[in-house]
Amino acid sequence: MKIGIVGSGVIGLTTALELHKEYRNASITIIADKFDKETVSYVAAGIFRPGTAFSGPTEEITKKWIVDAYDHWNEIRKTSEASKAGITEISGYIFSSISESITRNPLIEDVLPVYRRATEEELKICPGSWKYGSFFTTLVTECALYLPWASKKFESNGGKVFHKKVNSFSDLYGDYDIIINCTGMNAKQLCNDRKLVPIRGQILKVDAPWLKMAYYGDYDTYIVPGFSSVTLGGCRNFESYDMNPSPHDTAAIKERCESLVPGLKTAKLKEIRVGLRPHRDPCRVETEFIDIPNKGVLRIVHQYGHGGYGVTTAPGTAKYATKLVKDVWTGYSRL
Ligand SMILES: Cc1cc2nc3c(=O)[nH]c(=O)nc-3n(C[C@H](O)[C@H](O)[C@H](O)COP(=O)(O)OP(=O)(O)OC[C@H]3O[C@@H](n4cnc5c(N)ncnc54)[C@H](O)[C@@H]3O)c2cc1C
Repeated sequence: MKIGIVGSGVIGLTTALELHKEYRNASITIIADKFDKETVSYVAAGIFRPGTAFSGPTEEITKKWIVDAYDHWNEIRKTSEASKAGITEISGYIFSSISESITRNPLIEDVLPVYRRATEEELKICPGSWKYGSFFTTLVTECALYLPWASKKFESNGGKVFHKKVNSFSDLYGDYDIIINCTGMNAKQLCNDRKLVPIRGQILKVDAPWLKMAYYGDYDTYIVPGFSSVTLGGCRNFESYDMNPSPHDTAAIKERCESLVPGLKTAKLKEIRVGLRPHRDPCRVETEFIDIPNKGVLRIVHQYGHGGYGVTTAPGTAKYATKLVKDVWTGYSRL
């Protein structure tokens, strides 16, 4: 079987590794026009924490994606490869002065090893009059490390990589038996999908090696320590395509994060990153058969629209996409 994966972000690479586990003898090729630092995946803080509204096609499938994804990341976390792959365990607090529901997350409360209500004493850990809070233990996958690690593993498994922009999936007809579409935000044009919209995000990377816990506050405020820096966020600008760092967002992020953890006031700013989260409700993981006139049928498994939760969910949707590939291939080989 010849499989072509379009996309080399966290979704494409994670899927490539999953497919290789299932089809050792398949020829798997990644085709992409952007890699590593040029992808949205590189911008992510990488914390395993889906938004409560994240959706697959059904509640049952959504939950399975989350459980499979956590198990996958956690398996790598337990190996000697964990730090090379950029995966670590982290604990943190989420506080709110608005509503208890903001501090709860039914998608992961029974998946993470710890998710509990914060005590009265814990509500006073950070400045502010926090009324509600939760303490949790989760994972971080830092894409600055994970993408090169996964890429190296893919190539050492015999996978091939083409640096190329795909203008239409039909151009790939004949080269591959099955195409996996992991093009993130670009699927909007490639699939003419009006449901896929960008949610612009901006984060600051600061130097604060002393900070070991994650903190969330109201109004999209988050502080997530990674391997080489701490991520401060954030913002969510619906349907904004602006890739420029905004000085207003920088000031607002600094102010909100520093009032949550005042020690950050002295942290040196290392970098500002902007990315467009590929938001789609539901996230699209499904098969499509496209008729190419006078040629035949192009078989595609789409996998895009993970919004702000692509690092969290990648292994879950990749496993589901691999099952779809199996169904397509079984049908194909019977022809
Ligand atoms: C500020 C911010 C913070 C975030 N924090 C988190 C977080 O803490 N946790 C979390 O789970 N998620 C987080 N996310 C979300 C996460 O980054 C995305 O969901 C994820 O990166 C999407 O991955 P992807 O592989 O679909 O897309 P991308 O990383 O954008 O990769 C798309 C790939 O497709 C290729 N491609 C596209 N079109 C073509 C074409 N026509 N031809 C060839 N190649 C093509 C590109 O070259 C690229 O390789 C965050 C996002 C942002 C912006």
